[in-house]
Amino acid sequence: LASRDFHPENTVIQIGDVKIGGGELVVMGGPCAVESAEQIDEIARLVKAAGGQVLRGGAFKPRTGPYSFQGVGVEGLIMMAEAGKKHGLLTITEVMTPEYVDICAEYADILQIGTRNMQNFDLLRKLGTCGRPVLLKRGFSATYDELLNAAEYILAGGNPDVMLCERGIRTFESYTRNTLDLAAIPALQSLSHLPVISDPSHGTGRRELVEPMAKASVAAGADGLIIEMHTDPDNSMTGDGVQSLFPDQFAGLLRDLEQLSPIV
Ligand code: PEP
Ligand code: MN
Repeated sequence: LASRDFHPENTVIQIGDVKIGGGELVVMGGPCAVESAEQIDEIARLVKAAGGQVLRGGAFKPRTGPYSFQGVGVEGLIMMAEAGKKHGLLTITEVMTPEYVDICAEYADILQIGTRNMQNFDLLRKLGTCGRPVLLKRGFSATYDELLNAAEYILAGGNPDVMLCERGIRTFESYTRNTLDLAAIPALQSLSHLPVISDPSHGTGRRELVEPMAKASVAAGADGLIIEMHTDPDNSMTGDGVQSLFPDQFAGLLRDLEQLSPIV
């Protein structure tokens, strides 16, 4: 079902008046993690003012170590839903386990599957009936074929609204956190009809590389971007402050992107 042979036309996912995969660039911005109602409200205001359409933020965080901050949980879903509604933004949040799919789907407009869960098959099956579009991140060691097979689980379960996300893969390079595989963008678009979103934040792990790789992703044909932005990145509650843009950088990037691709 994910293959372009089966479905030659591009899939366009419409949520409210935002169309993903319809030729206009969609920008999702926000913190790695929801930290407080004030934090997510202020960041939502800045995402909207910059011209973004979707507020990102994790309420449940998949952390490499068990003692790291794990997210604020259901409270964070509520805070983010309120901020999104107040500022006129759609919301996207990560769901990590099948048990939490229903509550995440109740509060968020798009469900995000993280790189570490790309092959969590019970979770993928549950997304088939969640009633929300899904952004499926590529596993950091997954091939295109493995990513498309993971998407297939969701599609086969009855949910046609799947976006693929290139978020960087593990290579021998250690200067960057991951290696953003730009070729994945046109390659996945030729193999599949599903929209392809690029994540230059996790794809580089370095703030100064986010802007050039965001622009390169758009030049390569990405249907959208998901970018971390924080009002106080140096004091953010996850380690991802080092890759988060400052609000003025985020706004400047979106202004530049408008020259490359219309943002509606
Ligand atoms: C995130 O978007 O904050 C995240 C945890 O992403 P990934 O699953 O790509 O590491
Ligand atoms: Mn993050």
